[in-house]
Amino acid sequence: MPAFDLRTPLRAMRGAVRENVALAPYMHLRVGGPVDWFLEPLTEEDAALCVRVCRDSNVPLRVLGGGSNVLCSDHGVRGAVLHLGGHNRMVRDGLRITAGSGVTLASLLRSTKEVGLAGLEKLTGIPAHVGGAVAMNAGTREGETFEYLTSVTVIEPTGELQVLAKTDLQPRYRDGGLGDRIVLHATWELYEDDPNAIFQRFSESLKRRNATQPVSQRSVGCVFKNPPGDAAGRLIEASGCKTLRNGGIEVSGVHANYFVNSSNGTCAQFLELLEEVRRRVQSKFGVYLEPEVKLWGF
Ligand SMILES: Cc1cc2nc3c(=O)[nH]c(=O)nc-3n(C[C@H](O)[C@H](O)[C@H](O)COP(=O)(O)OP(=O)(O)OC[C@H]3O[C@@H](n4cnc5c(N)ncnc54)[C@H](O)[C@@H]3O)c2cc1C
Repeated sequence: MPAFDLRTPLRAMRGAVRENVALAPYMHLRVGGPVDWFLEPLTEEDAALCVRVCRDSNVPLRVLGGGSNVLCSDHGVRGAVLHLGGHNRMVRDGLRITAGSGVTLASLLRSTKEVGLAGLEKLTGIPAHVGGAVAMNAGTREGETFEYLTSVTVIEPTGELQVLAKTDLQPRYRDGGLGDRIVLHATWELYEDDPNAIFQRFSESLKRRNATQPVSQRSVGCVFKNPPGDAAGRLIEASGCKTLRNGGIEVSGVHANYFVNSSNGTCAQFLELLEEVRRRVQSKFGVYLEPEVKLWGF
């Protein structure tokens, strides 16, 4: 039972306010304990209300997208989690497409390629929601989320809604530069191309990804950031860690920078494996690997 109440201050909110909700089903890795409050506002104004109420009540608030880059403690997290999965509207206006935070990249890509709008196929295969993709500036070797992005509508930490142009932000490698802002929706300006040509590029990217990453298994994507001038996966493999296992969590035999949950693994097992891999890489190469995955509840 949480020590604080959010149901009363959020009684005017349209949407769901649930208590003590297990986070594992929302995580790509299927690992993690409960959060005190799980908030699913129906509208953007309701989402802003959640931010103001949590700020006024001193309740820590996190935003969850597709859960594909979060590792959540087995003991869960204190405070509230905002989930915008229902914010899944897409609107097309000529070359521009606007998508809500809860739209999956897969459905955004499907919709744009069907109408002959090109550019986003560079993000093929990233299992993100729009909000998480913008927050992380998700990308591949071919391109990043911010490449064709023109604006993002956010909730400021004060609870105000704000429209930011791309030039207001300084996106970096795997960081959209939003700080504590929450993405509500984003707009991209794409270019016209033959849907078959877009589909061709999409299929080639997917084929490459399927051959080099454990896409059908539960993971958090790349566990470590690539150190300057090198690849974490190469260092991990060369340190003899491929297929190293701790309980249900295993270093993937397909790509060594992915740890997969092959049988009811836990967050504790994941972290022990992370430390062991880091120790082995440091002792062999003198490189200290930094996690790319976001840790919740530590
Ligand atoms: C199999 C697999 C392959 C992957 N391949 C790639 C890849 O090729 N390239 C790549 O870049 N990443 C990759 N990833 C990692 C992951 O998909 C990206 O980091 C993605 O951007 C996370 O999006 P998400 O919606 O799942 O966000 P989550 O994992 O839910 O959240 C990630 C972070 O974004 C924040 N966030 C989420 N939604 C919002 C919002 N609305 N507003 C503000 N902040 C928000 C969260 O608070 C958290 O800090 C892969 C992951 C997996 C499991």
